[in-house]
Amino acid sequence: MARLSGDEFALVLADMRHVDDAIHVAQKILDVFHQPFNVAGHELFVTASMGITLYPFDDRGAQELLRNADVAMYRAKEYGKNNYQFYVAEMTAKATERLSLENDLRSALARGELSLHYQPIADCRSGRIVGMEALLRWKHPTRGMISPALFIPLAEETGFIIPIGEWVLRTACEQCRRWQKQGFPSLYVAVNLSSRQFHQKDLPASIYRILHETGLSPGSLGLEITEGLVMQQAEASISTLRELKAMDIRISIDDFGTGYSSLSYLKRFPINILKVDQSFVRGIPGDADDAAIAGTIITMAHSLGLRVVAEGVETVEQLNFMRQHGCDALQGYYLSKPLPADRFEEFLKNGTSLAKN
Ligand code: C2E
Ligand code: MG
Ligand code: MG
Repeated sequence: MARLSGDEFALVLADMRHVDDAIHVAQKILDVFHQPFNVAGHELFVTASMGITLYPFDDRGAQELLRNADVAMYRAKEYGKNNYQFYVAEMTAKATERLSLENDLRSALARGELSLHYQPIADCRSGRIVGMEALLRWKHPTRGMISPALFIPLAEETGFIIPIGEWVLRTACEQCRRWQKQGFPSLYVAVNLSSRQFHQKDLPASIYRILHETGLSPGSLGLEITEGLVMQQAEASISTLRELKAMDIRISIDDFGTGYSSLSYLKRFPINILKVDQSFVRGIPGDADDAAIAGTIITMAHSLGLRVVAEGVETVEQLNFMRQHGCDALQGYYLSKPLPADRFEEFLKNGTSLAKN
């Protein structure tokens, strides 16, 4: 047994007969850590995370084996600590891939690989297009299109989300203003904000500057945030939201119903719109639970004085359900997929809309 650094130890098990021997030892170590340690009259709890690599199967060199064990240990930590993980080659592949993606993301903005697609949002009653959601796209030079679900978390961790997010806001505001001038004066644009962006100190000031520079009126800008994000620092969030709302910007809670929604906070958050998450819309009309949840969200939102936008509406049955339940607006493949700016413009100019209710 050796101590490698501060709280990192290496344990070599020689003469193993079977992989189970390693599991057995790992389990014995974990058991020890289930007991508290008594230090100067205090009971202390310590967790242990272990990575296991096998010689000669995984690697032969000492350096490689230590690196493998390290990678596997990080995986154990990710899995909530107090457990062990065996090294598998794809862990290194994943870690390497992540690193190269991270490097590429660093220059994506400067190389013009990012763009925005726009998905129309229609008023349920009149069927008219009232606005659009801006959705970020990354066209990687060799990998092709990379989903925002994949690279936004990376941008968030590395902090690139700050310059990227500012670019998204500016581009979306400019675009919306341009379309307003082209004969769609009441159009609004909704922009997604990630946690790090939202909790940035000067967010309201930076948004104010972007609106001023692009000439878009604050009433034409919507910001989409998730419940989890506001709950992280509820008090600070409420004050940021108040500032934004005082500017006349509309605030939506995105993916509503998927996080730990606290109804008491919902009452205190100065927000305008709830977006019913597409996971509830998907099951309508067949799934009675989904229908009940979606219906309840609409009723509750209305009684709190909020508007409701349904996400991911794909079928005419789902459209009808939303209309019957008094949902205010909707977006989804039924109306249109997110479109590049030029195609969205055609869509607008063709006068496309939902059939009237
Ligand atoms: P979101 O804000 O909830 O966006 C809705 C997602 O649902 C989009 O995925 C959209 O393409 C997809 N969608 C729309 N209609 C339908 C439908 O009828 N059926 C199905 N199955 N899907 C539909 P997308 O564009 O891949 O974006 C994924 C998520 O990435 C977004 O979820 C949002 O959280 C995040 N995101 C996108 N752009 C940005 C951005 O500029 N900044 C930040 N911070 N996050 C972004
Ligand atoms: Mg959204
Ligand atoms: Mg959503």
